[in-house]
Amino acid sequence: MFVDSHCHADFPELGAREQEVLAAMAANDVGQAICVGVRLEDFPRLRALVDRHPEYWASVGVHPDNTGCEEPDVARLCELADDDRVVAIGETGLDYHWHRDAPEWQRARFRTHIRAAKACGKPLIVHTRDAAADTLRILQEEDAAACGGVMHCFTESRQVAEAALALGFYISFSGIVTFRNAVALKEVAAWVPLDRLLIETDSPYLAPVPHRGKTNEPAWVRHVAEELAILRGVPLTVIAQATTDNFFRLFRHAHHV
Ligand SMILES: [Zn+2]
Ligand SMILES: [Zn+2]
Repeated sequence: MFVDSHCHADFPELGAREQEVLAAMAANDVGQAICVGVRLEDFPRLRALVDRHPEYWASVGVHPDNTGCEEPDVARLCELADDDRVVAIGETGLDYHWHRDAPEWQRARFRTHIRAAKACGKPLIVHTRDAAADTLRILQEEDAAACGGVMHCFTESRQVAEAALALGFYISFSGIVTFRNAVALKEVAAWVPLDRLLIETDSPYLAPVPHRGKTNEPAWVRHVAEELAILRGVPLTVIAQATTDNFFRLFRHAHHV
């Protein structure tokens, strides 16, 4: 069985094909996926989707790119996370690619999520783009090792991976690792310890080869696993087993269905 540690199956592109997306997961032995929250306003829609399908788990958070939406505080995040289908806090983090001015509100929002994750005892789903140094510094300052988490859609260097691993974090690879030009990232993916490795789609974005450019979906996490098996020179079953075991170890509120 494969698990998709990060998708957005509630987004309209996938939500409109709800049954089809689940059928494709089943056909590809993708047994579970986390539907990751990006805005509190969308959480009821996400939570309703998860309620309809035991294959899905939920996370709650406000993405660092999002503006003009409800700003979370620790109490609000903990209130929504007090739910046995919510297995993580996020996605949260820093994104200086879309916010080149590196705004203080992003760092404050990130700290709020870390404090909530520690308060409610659920792991963090961390997004970082063009902001690795500040992301690691804040994780360290806020003692995020106490709640643990995952660096999702990892595209950083081995040094950044080492720092995240030192905090007890997991490293999740998306379809980007299948791209022909992702040479440095492939080297990192071949090196990350097997017991800290996760796979994801971040669908509907970032479709892996051979579907690059199309609307991504959780079933295609299988292509990420296949790439990791090739890069690491191990059978696909080894990647499937390790990433599934890691998933249930990190997201300990999730379970086999
Ligand atoms: Zn993200
Ligand atoms: Zn995402």
